[in-house]
Amino acid sequence: MASCQSCGITIMSKDEFGKEKNGALKLDYCRYCYDKGAFIEPEMTFELMVEKVASAMKTNKNVSDEAARESATRLLGGLKRWQARH
Ligand SMILES: [Zn+2]
Repeated sequence: MASCQSCGITIMSKDEFGKEKNGALKLDYCRYCYDKGAFIEPEMTFELMVEKVASAMKTNKNVSDEAARESATRLLGGLKRWQARH
């Protein structure tokens, strides 16, 4: 089991991994973030991803905006895609 190093979701099966141009699996990222050797949303910033993940969290649980954003920030802060931003 792995988690996507861009959005933090748990990748449960092989076809959820992103792919390189040659079709090889990209084990760092999920297919919603990465396909054909590139990020699907190259303009994505850490802040935008936090918003996206936070709103996904809110649909699952009854959490406040603030709590969702806080857990999203914590989750995403440890991921490879966002490490280089510092
Ligand atoms: Zn992802």
